[in-house]
Amino acid sequence: MSEAPILQVDGIAVTYSQIIAAVHDVSLTVPAGGIVALLGGNGAGKTTSLKAISSLVRAERGELTAGRVVYRGADVTQAQPWTLVERGLVQVLEGRRCFAHLSVEDNLRIGSFARRPARADIRVGLERVYGIFPRLKDRRKTLAGYTSGGEQQMVAIGRALMARPSLVLLDEPSMGLAPQIVEEIFEIVAALNRDEGVSFLLAEQNATVALRYAHYGYVLEGGRVAAQGPANELAERDVLQEAYLGGAPGRYAGRRVQDERVAVV
Ligand code: ATP
Repeated sequence: MSEAPILQVDGIAVTYSQIIAAVHDVSLTVPAGGIVALLGGNGAGKTTSLKAISSLVRAERGELTAGRVVYRGADVTQAQPWTLVERGLVQVLEGRRCFAHLSVEDNLRIGSFARRPARADIRVGLERVYGIFPRLKDRRKTLAGYTSGGEQQMVAIGRALMARPSLVLLDEPSMGLAPQIVEEIFEIVAALNRDEGVSFLLAEQNATVALRYAHYGYVLEGGRVAAQGPANELAERDVLQEAYLGGAPGRYAGRRVQDERVAVV
């Protein structure tokens, strides 16, 4: 990993419809070439934080009322979402959001449009995605609405990859998927990170799996960062069980260790 972070978020606050304060003071860093997990239970502010970074929060009457977002050294707090996609910052939305009435391949093609590519570039991009997700090649003519949840998640990630991203904001990739498919998706995230240097900021309720693949993690609670630390250390924290998801014992790594090396902020 290089020194300069690919993403720096400083003290952001987000309000919806001018009254609902969803995120209060979130700061985080994604090192270039890193996988960073954003953890927390329902309503903790994970999705809102991702959408604040990608500027998509405005589409939901959300407003960034404080803080700033720096991507590759440039202040992008007020950037339009499509300019961020052009610059390689791409979000995969929660719930996959495929175009159900379009084929798998047409869904993928849409991902390349921000780059205004030549036809040959689209073909190269598709072959790259099919190399990563061979299953999508078999299903390329199928309407996305008729594919499984796992395949739709692959389409959503594949569509993001068509934009040739440097940083992917991945929202709840495990949602509603069988454990085996979740592992498959996370293995691909790890391979993209390792082999192609793609950085990831991934929001997950499933801390167990996220912390196994991430390098570093932040735990959000009530729109604030409640804890943070290297993934292997964070996975061992009792504080996670208290702060998050009602604290099922053994949920995080099977070990219950009092470990004060992790900063609780
Ligand atoms: P989940 O995993 O359940 O999606 P989350 O950690 O991603 O949770 P957010 O979706 O960011 O949390 O929600 C944070 C808070 O903001 C919640 O109280 C939620 O009800 C509120 N909120 C989210 N989206 C909107 C919206 N479009 N309009 C108004 N309030 C919203």
